Amino acid sequence: MLYDDQNIFARIIRNELPAIKVYEDEQVLAFMDIMPQAEGHTLVIPKTPAITLLDLPPDAAAYTIQIVQKIAQAMKVALDVQGIVLMQLSGASAGQTVPHVHFHLIPSSVHELGKHALCMGDQERIKALAEKIKAEL
Ligand code: 5GP
Repeated sequence: MLYDDQNIFARIIRNELPAIKVYEDEQVLAFMDIMPQAEGHTLVIPKTPAITLLDLPPDAAAYTIQIVQKIAQAMKVALDVQGIVLMQLSGASAGQTVPHVHFHLIPSSVHELGKHALCMGDQERIKALAEKIKAEL
């Protein structure tokens, strides 16, 4: 499968679509999930065009996971959460819906995931949570 450079996350990386960002550098972007599975649900993506984790060059994967850890540490303090689920779906068969590799950081329990219908989050509330995470970074 070829990488589609018009996918939503590629467009967010190019600033063609808005996102509530918590972290950005040359290689990685972290932003709030638009349909959070729990308060504070954050996505971390490498800027490298890759569909799944399996397509991502090892150097980019290694750097991205360091940022995943950094964001998780900030979320734990900023949102005062005890546990964070790190989820990464590789392939539509696994449930991946956006064809650009991404890591979910979900302040929740694996036993709670999937219990609630997914819907658009309250954007003002999400912005407030993002500000807390940013302040901790
Ligand atoms: P996947 O199911 O591919 O692992 O996860 C894709 C995630 O991207 C979902 O949690 C979904 O809510 C989120 N998402 C889809 N479209 C957008 C968007 O336009 N903006 C943001 N911030 N998140 C999105």
